[in-house]
Amino acid sequence: MTVVPHVVPAAGGVCPAGGRPADRPGEWPGSTGSERSGIVSGEVMLIGDPAVRAVPVVDNGEALVDVASVPELSVDHRLADPQGMYRMLRSGVVDRLGRAAALLPGDVRICVVEGYRPYELQKRYFEQCCSELLSARPDLGGAELEALASRVVAPPEDNSPHATGGAVDLTLCDGAGRPLDMGTDVNQSPEQSGGRCYTAAAELPPAAIANRRLLVRVLEAVGMVNYPTEWWHWSYGDRYWAVRSGEAAACYGPAAASRTGRVGHPA
Ligand SMILES: [Zn+2]
Repeated sequence: MTVVPHVVPAAGGVCPAGGRPADRPGEWPGSTGSERSGIVSGEVMLIGDPAVRAVPVVDNGEALVDVASVPELSVDHRLADPQGMYRMLRSGVVDRLGRAAALLPGDVRICVVEGYRPYELQKRYFEQCCSELLSARPDLGGAELEALASRVVAPPEDNSPHATGGAVDLTLCDGAGRPLDMGTDVNQSPEQSGGRCYTAAAELPPAAIANRRLLVRVLEAVGMVNYPTEWWHWSYGDRYWAVRSGEAAACYGPAAASRTGRVGHPA
C-alpha cells in the first residue's frame, strides 16, 4: 500500500472536506490534567497557530542521527526515501525514544515511520493537501484553508516540525515488526478515520485505547509532546513542544542534512 503522509485520499473524500479546526477530540486516553495540555478551551492548538509561530528558536546544534543505528528502535519503511532522510532525527530525540522504548513491556517496540522531512517535501505535502481541500470545497481560502490543512500537515515553513528533526511520526509494533492496533493507520485524516485519528478519540476498540495509553505514557515520561489531532505525531525541541511545555524558546530550528555523516549510508 502506498501511503502519502497526512493526505491519503479516502473513498468519497480526501484530506479534510468538512469540519472546523476546533473539531472536538474527546478526553485524552489517560485523562489526566497534563495529558490534556494540548487542548485549549476544548479546542486543539494547531501547529500553525500564531502563538506557536511566535516562539523564538535557539538551536542547540544537535546533529541528526539515524534511528536505524539504535537496536532498541524499529523503523517502518513505507515512506523510505533513497537518502534515508525519513529515519533521521536530532540526537536528543533519538535518545528520548530509546529511553521510552525501555519503558515498554514485553516485546512491544517503538516503530518510527517518518522523522526528518526537508522543506521542499513539506511544501509539496501542504500544497497537495490544500489542493484536495479546494477540490471538495472551492469556497475555502486564506486563513480557513490553511487552518483546515494544518490539522493534518504543518504549513511549509523552514521551521515546520519535521524540518527541525525534532518531530516524528511513530507507532508501536511487536518484536516481529507487526504494528499493534492503534485504532487507525498512521497518517489517516479526521475525515478518513471518522475522527479516530485524534489521540483522545473515544470510539476505539479497547485494545487500541490501551495501546494509545501506553504510547502516551512512555513518550510523555521522556518529555515528548503529542499533536492531539494525530496520535502518531510526537516532538521534542520544536516550537509546538515549547508552547506545550511552557518553554520560552524552541531548541531545534531547521535541521541541515549536512549535520550528519550517515546520510546515504543506510544501516
Ligand atoms: Zn508528523
